[in-house]
Amino acid sequence: MNDPRDGAGARGSTVDLLPEFRLLEAAGARVAVHRRFEAESGARHAFSLKGPGGRSPGLDEARVAAQLEDCDPAVLKQAHGDALALRRREPGEGSRQTSPTADGQTTREAAIALVIQSADCLPVLLGDTCSAAVGAAHAGWRGTALSVVSRLVERMAIDHGCDPARLVALLGPAIGPCCYEVGEDVASIFRRRFPAHQGFLRMAEEAGGGRMRLDLTGANAFLLSRSGVPEGRIIRSGLCTACRMDLFPSYRLQGREAGRMYSLIAPARR
Ligand SMILES: [Zn+2]
Repeated sequence: MNDPRDGAGARGSTVDLLPEFRLLEAAGARVAVHRRFEAESGARHAFSLKGPGGRSPGLDEARVAAQLEDCDPAVLKQAHGDALALRRREPGEGSRQTSPTADGQTTREAAIALVIQSADCLPVLLGDTCSAAVGAAHAGWRGTALSVVSRLVERMAIDHGCDPARLVALLGPAIGPCCYEVGEDVASIFRRRFPAHQGFLRMAEEAGGGRMRLDLTGANAFLLSRSGVPEGRIIRSGLCTACRMDLFPSYRLQGREAGRMYSLIAPARR
C-alpha cells in the first residue's frame, strides 16, 4: 500500500484534506474510506478518487484499491427513479451480476459489492449495526423528490429485517449547497414535495437573483431521519464534488468528460 503523501509534497495532500477518511491506493487508483461509518456499520466501503492528472479510476481499479476484488460488483442501470433491487448470487450465475434498472439496492451476501455511479448526484450508503445487510442508493434531485432513500430504508426492513433505528447512513461526496444552483422548475417541485420541511430550500432561496441553491444532502438526511434512522447515525461526508474537482468528477462543471465516482459497499466478512 503506497502512502499517497509520497512524492506529492505536503501541500495539497488529500490525506490532510480528508481527515475523516483513510485513503487506500493500489495499481494507481485511490479510494477513500470513511473512518466513522466503517467503525459504526462494520461494512466494507469506499469512494473512488481521481488520480494524478485528474483521471477517474475504472470500476475494476476502484474495487482493487478498495480491497473488494473478491466481491462480485452489483452495478445498476441508474435511471433517476426510485426502483430498488435485492442483490444475491443465484446458483449457476457467473461472477458478473446482471444490471437491473434501479437506483438503489440491498444485499447481505459478503460476496457482493453494491456499486453506485455518480458525478454530482448523492450516493447514500446504509449499514446495519445488527446484521451484515447493506444498502446503497443514487439520489439526484429526481431521486430525492421521489424519496428513494426512504424506499431504501423500507427495503432494508423487508429484505433483511433491519430496524431503521439500528441503521447507520453515510451521505457521500455530492454537489453541495455551495454550488448546486437550480431553477424555479426544480425548486417548485421541492416546495410541493416537502411543504412542511424546507430547511434545505430556505438555504436555496437565500442565493437570490432568481437562481436558487439546493441542499441535496440536507434533503436526504431529512428523509432518512423521517424514516427512522437516528440523527446521530446519519453521517455527512461534507465533501462537495464541484468544490473538490481535484478529487471527484463533477458533471455540472465537466459534462460527459467528468467520468464517474464509484461508491462501493459490501457486508463485513464473517
Ligand atoms: Zn461546492
